[in-house]
Amino acid sequence: MEKKTEDIIGRSLNALLEDETFLPDLQGNPRRQAFKSLVSILSTPNHINKSFLRIALENGTVVRIPAFRVQHNNTLGPYKGGIRFHESVNEDEVSNLAKLMTLKNALHEVPFGGGKGGVIINPREYSPKELNLICKKYVQYFSDILGTEKDIPAPDVGTSEREMDWMMAEYKTIHPGQTYRGSFTGKSVINGGSLGRREATGKGVYFTFRYMMHNFIKNNETWMEDSDNLFARTAMQHYGRPLTIAIQGFGNVGSVAALQAYQCDYLQNKVVAVSDHNVMLYNSDGLDIPALIEYTMDHEGDLPADEEALAEHAIKATVHDRDDLLEQEVDALFLAALEDQIHPGNMKNIKARLIVEGANAPVTEDADEYLSEDGVLIVPDILANAGGVIVSYFEWMQGRETQFYTEDQIFELLYDKMQHTLDTIFPQFFKDPFPLRQNCYIHAVTKLSTILYRQGKLF
Ligand code: NAD
Repeated sequence: MEKKTEDIIGRSLNALLEDETFLPDLQGNPRRQAFKSLVSILSTPNHINKSFLRIALENGTVVRIPAFRVQHNNTLGPYKGGIRFHESVNEDEVSNLAKLMTLKNALHEVPFGGGKGGVIINPREYSPKELNLICKKYVQYFSDILGTEKDIPAPDVGTSEREMDWMMAEYKTIHPGQTYRGSFTGKSVINGGSLGRREATGKGVYFTFRYMMHNFIKNNETWMEDSDNLFARTAMQHYGRPLTIAIQGFGNVGSVAALQAYQCDYLQNKVVAVSDHNVMLYNSDGLDIPALIEYTMDHEGDLPADEEALAEHAIKATVHDRDDLLEQEVDALFLAALEDQIHPGNMKNIKARLIVEGANAPVTEDADEYLSEDGVLIVPDILANAGGVIVSYFEWMQGRETQFYTEDQIFELLYDKMQHTLDTIFPQFFKDPFPLRQNCYIHAVTKLSTILYRQGKLF
C-alpha cells in the first residue's frame, strides 16, 4: 500500500511536469527542481510522533502500549485524521493513511491537512475503564500537538463516538479556558457531534457510485457513447441496466451503503451478497437489507451466521464462506472492510467490472494495475469514502460557531460538496487514459503544488 501511494504521486507529478499550462512561471531547471521538492514534500510526513502509553490495568499489571500520531502535511489546514485501535497498527500503515488523508482533503477541497493516529491494541481485550484510561493517556501524551487549529482526530477502526467524547473531555481538562469543541470530531451529538456523521461515509460511498452510473452518464450520454475511453465503455455497458451488487463488510460504512443501494430510486439495484468477518450471505433475488441491519443491531454488529438464525428472523439467504463474496458474478463490488482484500492471489477471479472502495486501500497495487488494464472501473477510496471527513469538517465548523445544522441540511451540504468534486473529476477522467485513482491524485497534487508554489515553498 505504501508503494502504491508513492508511485501514483510520482506518476501524477510526471504528468504535471509535461503539462506546460501547469505552473507556467516555472521553466527549465527550476521547474525540474521544484518537482523534485514536491516529491520529497508529499512522500514524507512532517512529523511522526510516537509514544508508549503507561496504563495500570484493572488486575494491577502495568503495561506500555505503543501509540502513534503521524502528521503528514498541513498545507491546506490543521492536520486531520482518525485514531485506529487495532493489533495490526504500525508506523508505516499510520503514515500511509495520513498521506491518503492529505490527498483526500485536497481532492474534496476540505480545508484540512492529513494526519492519522493508531494504538496497537485489540480493544475487545480491554474493559471500558481501561479503554477510557488509554484514551486519556493518548491525549495527555500528545496534548501539545493536538488542538482545534493544530490537529483534529476522529474515530477510525476500533474507535467510535464514545472514545472521541472521552478524548475531548481530557483535552478540555488539560487546556482550561481554550476552545475545545473542535479538537475532536465524530463525537456524540449531545457532546457537540454532528447529526449525520455516523452515516456520512456510507452515504457518500453510495452517492459517488449512483452519481457516476446515473446522473453523470444521463447528462453526457451521447458524448460517453462516442468515447473510445476504456473506462467509459465499462460504464456504458452497465448504464440503464438493473445492477447486481455485492458488499464486503457490513459495519458502519458497508451497512449504510447497502441500505442506500437497496432503497435507491435512480438505479434498479439488487444487493445479492453481503459479508462480515464471519460469513457471506447470498440471495439471487436480492437480500432484505433492513432486516439484516436490524439483526446486526441486536448481535454486536454481526450478520446471522447460520440457517437457524436466518430462519428465526425470516431472512431469505444462503450461508457461504466469507471470502467467496469477492469472486461473485456481480456487476458491482463494494469493498467496505479492510485493506488489501483484492490482491494477486484473487485478482484474476474477480468478475465485477465496477469496484467501489469504501475502505481505505482495499485493492493492492498489483491488483489495481491488473484490473485497471483490463478496463475494470475502480472508484478509489479518496474519491468515494470522503463523506466522513467532509461531515467532520461540518462538525468542526458547528463547534466553532456553536450553531448546529439539521440532519437534512448536513446531507444536502455533503452531497453538494461531493457532487462538486465529481463534476470536476469525471469529465477529465472519461477523456484521459489514466485510471480514476490517478486522475484523482493528479487533481489533489495539482491543488497542493499550486498552493505550495504560491506560498513560496517550492525551490
Ligand atoms: P466497522 O468496524 O464498523 O465495520 C467493518 C466491517 O467489516 C464489519 O462488518 C466486519 O465484520 C467486517 N469485516 C472485517 N473483516 C472482514 C473480512 N475479512 N471480510 C469481510 N468482512 C470483514 O468499520 P467501518 O467504520 O465500517 O470501516 C470500514 C472501512 O472503511 C475501514 O477500512 C475504514 O478505515 C474505512 N473508512 C471508514 C470511515 C468511517 O467514517 N467509518 C471513513 C473512511 C474510511
